[in-house]
Amino acid sequence: MTHTNPHTTVVIGAGLSGLATARALTERGCPVTILEARADVAQPWRSRHPALRLNIHRKFAGLPGQAAPKGDGVYLRRDTVVEHIERYAATLDAPIHFGVTVTGISRAAEGWRVDTETGPYRAANVVIATGRDSSPHIPDWPGCQDFAGELIHARDLGDVSRFDGKRVLLVGAGNSGTDALNHLARHRPTEVLVSVRYGPAVVPQRIFGYPLHGLARVFAALPTWILDPAFRLTERLFLGNLRRLGLSTHPEGGGTRLLRDGVTFAIDDGFVAALKARRFRIVPRVDRMLGETVILADGSAVTPDVVIAATGYRTGLEPLLGHLGVLDDQGRPQRPMGERDPSNPGLWFTGFKPIFTGYFDAAGLAANRIAAAIAEEPGRARAVGTFAAPDDRAVTDTTFLAGANPH
Ligand SMILES: Cc1cc2nc3c(=O)[nH]c(=O)nc-3n(C[C@H](O)[C@H](O)[C@H](O)COP(=O)(O)OP(=O)(O)OC[C@H]3O[C@@H](n4cnc5c(N)ncnc54)[C@H](O)[C@@H]3O)c2cc1C
Repeated sequence: MTHTNPHTTVVIGAGLSGLATARALTERGCPVTILEARADVAQPWRSRHPALRLNIHRKFAGLPGQAAPKGDGVYLRRDTVVEHIERYAATLDAPIHFGVTVTGISRAAEGWRVDTETGPYRAANVVIATGRDSSPHIPDWPGCQDFAGELIHARDLGDVSRFDGKRVLLVGAGNSGTDALNHLARHRPTEVLVSVRYGPAVVPQRIFGYPLHGLARVFAALPTWILDPAFRLTERLFLGNLRRLGLSTHPEGGGTRLLRDGVTFAIDDGFVAALKARRFRIVPRVDRMLGETVILADGSAVTPDVVIAATGYRTGLEPLLGHLGVLDDQGRPQRPMGERDPSNPGLWFTGFKPIFTGYFDAAGLAANRIAAAIAEEPGRARAVGTFAAPDDRAVTDTTFLAGANPH
């Protein structure tokens, strides 16, 4: 399909979600400018720990127009993911303005104004692709500022061998927490305590050698009333009774938690065996910290060398667009995957909803949804030509304004 309409879109974020949407737009003839705070594409993936692999099957790790590389087997390595995204960006026919941090988004007379540290941009459409894991979150435990040990977020895990010989307290056993535990299980920390309120829904990485995530489309087609018991049954059959190991069951099932609450299920690749072997031990949740001691909810005290807070992320979107009423009480967009918002025409989100097949597949779905909607709205494109730049120059599109920026 050929489109020549002068639609103008600013995409914020040059991760896989932003790049996929930019590509879908350029393929429809819609002009796009991408703003990226960092100096490179795929920056979050570059800074994740070096042993990380995708937990999704390779067949779901393709991006629109580019299949996932095959060299790593089923689960892509971190560095392969970075190369995959770099290659994707290199074939994109749209400018990426690196080192441009967006600081605010507001409605303009027509369309949107995007404020950055290097000057404003204006556009008919703004696509927010800044990532669901933008800001690491550590609870404000009383006394944590003065904790004598090391307190890090799971984002800063680094090379896991550095925990050899150390007493580790890992807080939270969601997706990032269990990934860290899977890696710790292959190393030699002196002690690993796992502080959790509820155990996650856990599935084995492989069943009889078959990578379970290969069936993600089948799971995606099932209603939660089947999925929730299916998660419990799979866990029980292939991993055993995790309650006996101290992991209490969340009142909601794994399907409901993913689809309704956006909480990804955990994949076991060694941590359950470590729990069974008593190398890892479940402890109550953290209450407070006192010098080198961590006091747990049951009043007991532990003295870890390192506390790893696998306590999740925030989107960091409130300061940018909290005033628009488009976020939920957790700061996540209410329309997370390219859905049209009649109250805020031209404002789009992608990369904020986990789905069974993973974020790559979700990025492709949202990209097509957003690009198709933008491409069929000529009225919004015409409006762009009437915007005034901050210094009252008449501008015709974002590229003109962007040209005023050095990036
Ligand atoms: C440890 C870990 C492991 C994961 N493993 C998997 C996995 O196996 N499979 C899977 O599908 N997903 C996984 N994820 C989820 C992962 O975040 C996504 O796969 C993917 O990175 C999302 O891409 P994105 O483009 O939406 O966001 P990101 O990759 O986070 O990219 C967002 C971009 O926006 C930029 N940006 C942010 N704020 C601004 C701003 N104000 N102005 C300008 N630019 C800005 C950032 O610099 C960044 O480049 C994992 C996440 C974590 C934390």
